[in-house]
Amino acid sequence: MLLKGKKILITGVANDWSMAWAIAKRAAEQGAEIAMPYAMPALEKRVRPLAESIGAKFVQECNVQNDEQMDDLFNKIEAEWGHIDCMLHAIAFSDKNELTGRYADTSRENFKNTMDISVYSLVDLTRRASKLMTNGGSIVTLTYYGGEKSVPNYNVMGVAKSALDSSVRYLASDLGANGIRVNAISAGPIMTLASSGVGGFKAMLRLNAEQTPLRRNMTLDDVSGAALYLFSDLSSAVTGEIHHVDCGYSTTGMMPNDMKDILLKGLEEK
Ligand code: NAD
Repeated sequence: MLLKGKKILITGVANDWSMAWAIAKRAAEQGAEIAMPYAMPALEKRVRPLAESIGAKFVQECNVQNDEQMDDLFNKIEAEWGHIDCMLHAIAFSDKNELTGRYADTSRENFKNTMDISVYSLVDLTRRASKLMTNGGSIVTLTYYGGEKSVPNYNVMGVAKSALDSSVRYLASDLGANGIRVNAISAGPIMTLASSGVGGFKAMLRLNAEQTPLRRNMTLDDVSGAALYLFSDLSSAVTGEIHHVDCGYSTTGMMPNDMKDILLKGLEEK
């Protein structure tokens, strides 16, 4: 019961493939009470049964671009719960037509929208949640290695993740004096609604599994375990950190020898 009695706002559940759902479920198993809003009406039929299965509250529409919906969510949480202990930010969006081809071709409109939904939402949610974190707290967001290095097709989402990583450090600095920690989990690739919009994602999953030191892809259990640690007091001196849960991929500088051999053979045959 690592999170017994903790009140946790979980954003970003779209369906049972969502990393946010894996984290919500695991946190509830560890004794947490969960608030679980969803982004748009079309998602309610998927999210409500999941929320009911763990007794989650505040199952209401909350699009991060809609200030009235954000106000309503936080007013209701304040009235009923009084405070929040932890928050998960698991929100990203970009026009899938621009998650393929060249970053250089990103439109101004999609650049702004991607940044607003995928980055500013962390700032806005953190400001609102931190006001209710009267006993200190822990905020966790989900990022990806494409914010540190260029990854084909990830394009503007990679630039958004760089800004998200940087926001984690600035928010951690702002809120540390209030006992509030802010960290990111840099998750390895996994098939979800959001990632299926990235061009060539299936091939990327396949190659990634062969290239990590652990020779596999990250799982929902891997990412939810790391979130439990960051939410709990086990990580009490950890803040401003980008914690990689990627089977070691980001620690390597060259593909393993067996992969190199396959690639070289392919090149010779070409
Ligand atoms: P997902 O599609 O299940 O979750 C993305 C969520 O963002 C959805 O619940 C969606 O409703 C929400 N969202 C989009 N626009 C919104 C808006 N305007 N207001 C409120 N919510 C909105 O996919 P996921 O892969 O679990 O994504 C969660 C996070 O993890 C994202 O930030 C994603 O970039 C990040 N991430 C994903 C991977 C991966 O390979 N899947 C890897 C690393 C990081």
